[in-house]
Amino acid sequence: MSAIDTLATALAVHGELRRDEPLARHTTFGIGGPADIFLTVRDAAGLAIATNAAHDADVPLFVLGSGSNILVADAGIRGLTVDNRARAEAADSTGLNYTLESGTSFAAFARKMCRLGLDGLAWAVGIPGTLGGACVYNAGAYGGCLADVLTRVRLQEPGGGDSWVAARDLGLVYRGSAFTRGQFGGKTVLEAEVRLTPGDSRTLLDQAATYDEKRLTAQPRGRNAGSTFKNPPDHPAWKLIDEVGMRGATRGDAAVSDRHCNFFVNYGNAKAADVAWLIAEAQRRVKGQFGIQLEREVEFVGAW
Ligand SMILES: Cc1cc2nc3c(=O)[nH]c(=O)nc-3n(C[C@H](O)[C@H](O)[C@H](O)COP(=O)(O)OP(=O)(O)OC[C@H]3O[C@@H](n4cnc5c(N)ncnc54)[C@H](O)[C@@H]3O)c2cc1C
Repeated sequence: MSAIDTLATALAVHGELRRDEPLARHTTFGIGGPADIFLTVRDAAGLAIATNAAHDADVPLFVLGSGSNILVADAGIRGLTVDNRARAEAADSTGLNYTLESGTSFAAFARKMCRLGLDGLAWAVGIPGTLGGACVYNAGAYGGCLADVLTRVRLQEPGGGDSWVAARDLGLVYRGSAFTRGQFGGKTVLEAEVRLTPGDSRTLLDQAATYDEKRLTAQPRGRNAGSTFKNPPDHPAWKLIDEVGMRGATRGDAAVSDRHCNFFVNYGNAKAADVAWLIAEAQRRVKGQFGIQLEREVEFVGAW
């Protein structure tokens, strides 16, 4: 029996397990080859067990949130992919501090806070993804970001125990953290705690509606993973891509959106390789014309 088979057998009792699951079914791009083992977990304990088991079996681990910021290779992901649907939430006695399992939908939680008249997350109502993914990238929009409300996270050590870490120790910056800089190799966010402030639900829902409207107007409809590149200082990425003539550029079924050039879109059966080609071409042209290196916001995952 291979290490993968042994791990699959051991984990089958801890969640819903599939072999060779196409990841195109689990990414907002609708792109991605198979995961060797795909395990859906529904609580933080299951997430911790799965990550430890992969470590002990020496099998590579990938923790999947909503797949809204990743481009998965056409060859898929080797080892174990854990589909994190741990979504429990609890408020403390003040009603202002929430502890959330990391598979919680960030947008749904943000909208619920607006309805309850709790201030701090109205800007997040349109951000797809889980709270775990939001911690990794310090998700943000319209002048707000997770760091504004995050107080601490419970981290699982690879093959070890877990501990609460203060938000200030996560190195959160614009679309980055100790995770994205490789300083937290193999750690998994099990839970996160956020602090809201009292507000007025009517005002917050109005703000949320304004943000919804802005997104509807600015963003394309096709399948995508949001902004492809981070905005370099003083230069919106979309403008640079537009100015090098790539608005609407295509490769196979992949395209640079003609509505918003920083969105790359799958209009049908695009391959990861098609999107990757467009990304590299945009970087090459922008570097050549402006001397600016566009840094990817979308993460490449799997067997490239
Ligand atoms: C239409 C659209 C609009 C968007 N708009 C915005 C926006 O306005 N602002 C913004 O910031 N982002 C935006 N995004 C990008 C994306 O939604 C965010 O980056 C989101 O936080 C990613 O979360 P996820 O759960 O989908 O992560 P995934 O894409 O599933 O995973 C991304 C990375 O996080 C890691 N990860 C996920 N969960 C955990 C965990 N529990 N522990 C450790 N690592 C974990 C994964 O292993 C992977 O490395 C948008 C995306 C789309 C499709």
